[in-house]
Amino acid sequence: MSTTEQLTEIYDLLLERFGPQHWWPGDTQFEIIVGAILTQNTNWTNVEKAITNIKAADALSPTALYRASHEKIAVLIKPAGYFNVKARCLKSFLTWLFDEYDGQLENLEQLSTSRLREELLNIKGIGPETADSIVLYAFGQPVFVVDAYTARVMGRHGLIEAGCDYEQLQELFQSNLIEDTQMFNEFHALLVRVGKEFCRPKARCSGCPLESLPHNVETHDVF
Ligand code: SF4
Repeated sequence: MSTTEQLTEIYDLLLERFGPQHWWPGDTQFEIIVGAILTQNTNWTNVEKAITNIKAADALSPTALYRASHEKIAVLIKPAGYFNVKARCLKSFLTWLFDEYDGQLENLEQLSTSRLREELLNIKGIGPETADSIVLYAFGQPVFVVDAYTARVMGRHGLIEAGCDYEQLQELFQSNLIEDTQMFNEFHALLVRVGKEFCRPKARCSGCPLESLPHNVETHDVF
């Protein structure tokens, strides 16, 4: 079976069991970006509390947040944890947006996927997973977001080797699947779902949607 067929089978089994995951939550492009930055190292419930605070302060727009002080942002996003680091990251993103793109998210729409990704990665505090989440979920451009859940499932199913890094893991999907924003969106969300419910550090293979596929839970986490 080719890698493409293996990935497709995994996708089909997960979708059949879990159904569409309706990611990413957020009413606006900017809310998705803020959520992607705030969700680093915390769970979504805490991000929601922080976003509710920002909305209540009428600050959930690039202009309002750009004008807000670091201290004010830090207080608003406190529920998301690492609030000083994340406030600095939001400020760095907004400074870049205003300095380079007139504060207009529409201007980022003109950039190619690779250029947008590259520029986001140059912003202090934005790593590959956050940059890719912004590119995929806020701008609807086809990059595959990978994370520790993806690495664990792919490692246990023999699709990646130990020592594989973020880019290599991403390349597994991008070079073996057709570029399809909607499918990339859904596939990532489904992998997170199976990772949270079944493919935990101590695997719960019994009843897992991927139980029928060859797997080995003795493999070490890749990252
Ligand atoms: S829990 Fe088991 S069957 Fe499910 S994805 Fe992980 S290794 Fe595969």
